Amino acid sequence: MRKPIIAGNWKMYKTLSQAVEFVQEVKTSIPESTKVDAVICAPALFLPSLVKEAEGSALEIGAQTMHFENEGAFTGEISPAQLEDLKVNYVILGHSERREYNNETDESVNKKVHAAFEHGMTPIICVGETLDDREKSHTMVKVSSQVGAALKGLTKDQVAKTVIAYEPIWAIGTGKTATSEDANTVCEGIRKTVADIAGEEAAEAVRIQYGGSVKPANIKELLSMEHIDGALVGGASLEPDSYLQLLEAG
Ligand code: 13P
Repeated sequence: MRKPIIAGNWKMYKTLSQAVEFVQEVKTSIPESTKVDAVICAPALFLPSLVKEAEGSALEIGAQTMHFENEGAFTGEISPAQLEDLKVNYVILGHSERREYNNETDESVNKKVHAAFEHGMTPIICVGETLDDREKSHTMVKVSSQVGAALKGLTKDQVAKTVIAYEPIWAIGTGKTATSEDANTVCEGIRKTVADIAGEEAAEAVRIQYGGSVKPANIKELLSMEHIDGALVGGASLEPDSYLQLLEAG
């Protein structure tokens, strides 16, 4: 049985004090018996404060990106070793916004996935098709190739521990959600790709999230699908009430 994972991706929103307030409010409202892994991926600047604030609670803190090198002359970058030192548990890698605006490639995502495991972090690997891909029926080709590239060279055990977020680019921040059936079909295809790469056992274990305009009103239906094991949520993860409703649906 795969444990659902609901992760907030705050992108470039909030100030430090707003972020700390959020964690203070949310951490006391998550029941001990929660059935989901609850994660917030915050701007890097807030990570030390949020990790400290969330300590001892069910809320875990993740980063939104990182470099693959441990150190070096990379102005403005953040290293896996630095995140590990802060006790950050998760890192989003290959988000479509980073692929589009920050030169993230399949190759750099793969290097970062390896680096995440070397530093004890769980990678949340984002994949997804553009509207153009979808209209040309290229969704599965695109997504499988992104998954294959990201998982290259990992052990079966590492693949099993990976989180993959299927985020159709046309559904991000647009209010358009893939139908739960369509999302499930793609997530099932991703699981088959993982099986081809790393075997059935790893494919059964890997958790696949859906992302793209997830909100309290649609999360239950998405999570009821066989191959959807959680959600990666932008806008609806920014307010404590809404985020807690997402966790309750899990
Ligand atoms: P929205 O939930 O705001 O559509 O964002 C999705 C996303 O990009 C999460 O990584």
